[in-house]
Amino acid sequence: MISSQAAGSRRRVVVLGSTGSIGTSCLKVIDALPDRLEAFGLSAHSRWQDLLKQTHRYRPRYITATDSGAANELCLQTLPLGTIVLDGEDAIGAMVSDPDVDVVLTAIVGSAGLTGTWLALQAGKTVAVANKETLVMAGPLVMELAAQKNARILPVDSEHSAIFQAMQAGSSREIERIVLTASGGPFRGRKRDDLLNITPEQALKHPTWTMGRKITIDSATLMNKALEIIEARWLFNLRPEQVQVIIHPESIIHSFVEFTDGSILAQLSPPDMCLPIQYALTYPERVAGPAKRLCWDELRSLTFQQPDLETFPALQLGYEVARRGGTCGAVLNAANEAAVGAFLEGELSFLDIPRVCREVLDNHNYSERPSLSELNALDRWSRQEVLRWITTKEYSRSR
Ligand code: NAD
Ligand code: MG
Repeated sequence: MISSQAAGSRRRVVVLGSTGSIGTSCLKVIDALPDRLEAFGLSAHSRWQDLLKQTHRYRPRYITATDSGAANELCLQTLPLGTIVLDGEDAIGAMVSDPDVDVVLTAIVGSAGLTGTWLALQAGKTVAVANKETLVMAGPLVMELAAQKNARILPVDSEHSAIFQAMQAGSSREIERIVLTASGGPFRGRKRDDLLNITPEQALKHPTWTMGRKITIDSATLMNKALEIIEARWLFNLRPEQVQVIIHPESIIHSFVEFTDGSILAQLSPPDMCLPIQYALTYPERVAGPAKRLCWDELRSLTFQQPDLETFPALQLGYEVARRGGTCGAVLNAANEAAVGAFLEGELSFLDIPRVCREVLDNHNYSERPSLSELNALDRWSRQEVLRWITTKEYSRSR
């Protein structure tokens, strides 16, 4: 269990996915808090040049690239004295389980993030989870492993960080429900017919957040909120009916917790991931950091709308999968990843993303208590199913 930080000690942080949007925000937080935090290990996938620049800047003990071509390139480069390139299948495991590591921030995108989270928990580390797909795919197994190893999971997703912060005001027994806020994405207020010819460029323009490509598309379909419903259910051990969603276009209130006495607590701040990242890295303490401040002089109104489930059916999938559990999370997550990839490649239309997810979910072989290897197999199966739906006539007829 993590306790208040001893004076003079710095938390050694491994950043999995250090070259991405969350990864670079995390390094900004580490930059701003040099007395408290230290970049101990960094991982990237293919962008080895970015990783190399970060390596010279932060001088971590370990770096690794999960793409073999990028890893080979890294091995040929001149590195700062004391930095080791870890190579091969065990690289992430070796990095996260080093006895000197205090916190692992998992900011890899997609189900590829599961392995790092799993290995860090197995090593009993505190894990700051940005990679929501891990919890969507294998929430019950991940939470069980954390409990077994006495390892702490701290949320980084802004809504879940908000809930975690508001939850400090009461006990978990006193929670009536939580309400996740959603910006509504770039197509808020549109109807289905308006979304027939949406291009990747249009869907990649998020009104309030700057993020990686996959989560930006998820925000446009509202699949991101669907994944967050499932994430919240497992992370906070709630009943599915205790998790609700409201549209809040300003993205200032990051979520609400309603307690049994009717009291509602919220967490507010401008949309800037530095704050939830920092809270997870310095927990349980709060310190001045690089996060943007709310400008009260400019604040005029905070508004709310009910989500439009007909135009954004992905949200319905989130409620359903949170209720059914078992294998559903892994199937939905993988189908969505494959569908988003196909949409970005111009092989699938915007409205087909939730449609394909629904088809693959309905066609899968449900089981209530799957093992990790069953979930990994279903992840592969679901991706193949999406490809099959895209290429077969059967799929064309269902459009
Ligand atoms: P991103 O695309 O900007 O970065 C992804 C990172 O993962 C990169 O460092 C990349 O090198 C690495 N990566 C990609 N594929 C990989 C693979 N197969 N194996 C290992 N590493 C791989 O993504 P992001 O926006 O930073 O999001 C990262 C995670 O955080 C996602 O799970 C997302 O849902 C979550 N998240 C992001 C935000 C945000 O504001 N960006 C907010 C909340 C949650
Ligand atoms: Mg979020």
